[in-house]
Amino acid sequence: MYQRRTCGYVGSKQAAPILLESLAKLEYRGYDSAGLAVRDGDKDFVIVKAKGRLSRLARKTDGGNAIPGTCGIGHTRWATHGEPSETNAHPHMSDDGNVVGVHNGIIENYQELKAKLLRHNYKFYSDTDTEVAIKLIDYYYKKYEHTPVDAINHAMVRIRGTYAFALMFKSYPGEIYVARKDAPMIIGKAKDGDLYLASDVPAILKYTRDVYYIGQMEIGRLANGEVTFFNLDGDVIEKKLTTVEWDAASAEKGGFEHFMMNKGSPGYAQCLHQG
Ligand code: GLU
Repeated sequence: MYQRRTCGYVGSKQAAPILLESLAKLEYRGYDSAGLAVRDGDKDFVIVKAKGRLSRLARKTDGGNAIPGTCGIGHTRWATHGEPSETNAHPHMSDDGNVVGVHNGIIENYQELKAKLLRHNYKFYSDTDTEVAIKLIDYYYKKYEHTPVDAINHAMVRIRGTYAFALMFKSYPGEIYVARKDAPMIIGKAKDGDLYLASDVPAILKYTRDVYYIGQMEIGRLANGEVTFFNLDGDVIEKKLTTVEWDAASAEKGGFEHFMMNKGSPGYAQCLHQG
């Protein structure tokens, strides 16, 4: 259950109110804190976090209106490494602000990875496994000439565990990168070209029924109204948009589990590919 509470948006509208709404749709899954990272054009990332209920984050950001920007990611956390606190809440950011990201899942070898990063002078402010993953991506980002896909796939090869990541890079405004292994994530594409990502269909059903299912250990880039997928080698892979036929009411009631159990549903085959 802890693996399903991430969302993102990039398009023509204000991101924060949409992110808060998407997180609210996933609220029934349980969480202890929440956070958003939003970016206005190529300005710095604005990160706001709150311990406790999502309504606190909504109040802190005036329903999202206080943090303008059309590109952002959001997360509600179910603490696995480190107590529930504002510091441990996601998003986490690399030391010089290159990479910001949220994560659902568990990085099993985070101690070993943290030791490596400490040797490379990285500093850590939270107790989370997630901060280690974000800084590992930053490490490879610097090593592989600031190419997000190369940075992410090198980190994926080193990380043992489960993850759905949503990431933004300072030098790539208007872009969100995602990657997943043993944790679900989908990307929705609206008719107007706006792109939505979420750990589960109900979070975005209000905006679109056209979705891409990201496969195991695949990477996606959301930019300029288009989604591009890559395998671990960094090669582009083709994917088809699938229309979700089931209605929002049953989606919200039953959620993804119900969807996965229902062999008659049109998306069943795609779900099997989610691993
Ligand atoms: N393991 C991460 C943490 O403790 C992510 C937990 C989650 O999926 O919310 O921060």
